[in-house]
Amino acid sequence: MRIEQELKLGFKDVLFRPKRSTLKSRSQVNLTRDFTFKHSGRQWSGVPIIAANMDSVGSFAMAKALAKHGVMTAVHKHYSVEDWAEFVKSSDNNTLNKVMVSTGTSDADFEKTKEILALSDEIIFICIDIANGYSEHLVDYVERVRAQFPDKVISAGNVVTGDMVEELILAGADIVKVGIGPGSVCTTRVKTGVGYPQLSAIIECADAAHGLGGRIVGDGGCTCPGDVSKAFGGGADFVMLGGMLAAHEESGGELIQQNGETFMKFYGMSSQSAMDKHSGGVANYRAAEGKTVLLPYKGPVEHSIQDILGGVRSTCTYVGAAQLKELTKRTTFIRVQEQENNVYGKE
Ligand code: 5GP
Repeated sequence: MRIEQELKLGFKDVLFRPKRSTLKSRSQVNLTRDFTFKHSGRQWSGVPIIAANMDSVGSFAMAKALAKHGVMTAVHKHYSVEDWAEFVKSSDNNTLNKVMVSTGTSDADFEKTKEILALSDEIIFICIDIANGYSEHLVDYVERVRAQFPDKVISAGNVVTGDMVEELILAGADIVKVGIGPGSVCTTRVKTGVGYPQLSAIIECADAAHGLGGRIVGDGGCTCPGDVSKAFGGGADFVMLGGMLAAHEESGGELIQQNGETFMKFYGMSSQSAMDKHSGGVANYRAAEGKTVLLPYKGPVEHSIQDILGGVRSTCTYVGAAQLKELTKRTTFIRVQEQENNVYGKE
């Protein structure tokens, strides 16, 4: 047994130190990033925020709404190939290059991914997603997908340490997804005791990935626009959001009326709810590692995404970053023991 003594931090442990800046207004801040991905050589331009591949977040409707802002959606893996065909038919070019096709690591997943990608050359992102990215099986699967799709952008995860980021990039991933345990409907830390504070995971993993020409997605744990900025400030190239984009018209969750108010169901992809829906219940060798919550219904996602993008732009003006790309270079975090003043309740 060994204990690492160095303190690891989450979003709630830091704030940005403001810096002098020549920017006059947040309208001068450009949130678009241009990437050329390591293995696929693909060039891509967009706002590097991604709706999570959860079945009450990453829907086709969400993809269409967010693409208008240049924002991405990792479409959840429970749509059929026929559903995808409909979606491809009804989408213009600037939507399809903003979606990721999510997949697990079974042979059936592999075949389905091939069929979906065959629908359009405009679909370029594959998101290989398993809860525990430390499995050798994931590395083998990334190699297999890379061999089959040399010119597609492959994201793989989830992991939280530099060693595994490097291994996945060397196996063929362009992007590694980072986060174990921080999610809003995740109970992994409670059920298993495993995890890593998300800001430190991002800092460590970004450093490992960038050294090899790879990219990372900071996945999970953002509760407000300020957290999204902190993830970018820590070095995340992309930031994935579940809870912040849940409970909207486009999220695709079940609406529930209670005492005259409208709520939407939101649940973790390893929760009892998800397993009942997609796998015929929780298998007897495992525990559910996600929860189910009812969130107040928020209406169209338009307002929320503008709020998030506006917040990140504003962070950039406070530290003097004219482009999102510069945010991490301009970031000095200060460790804090307080965040917002809650005297009149929470925002
Ligand atoms: P959020 O933005 O809601 O804090 O986090 C979203 C992320 O939580 C997802 O992208 C995914 O990585 C993770 N997640 C989703 N469902 C589950 C679950 O049931 N269990 C765990 N451990 N993580 C989940």
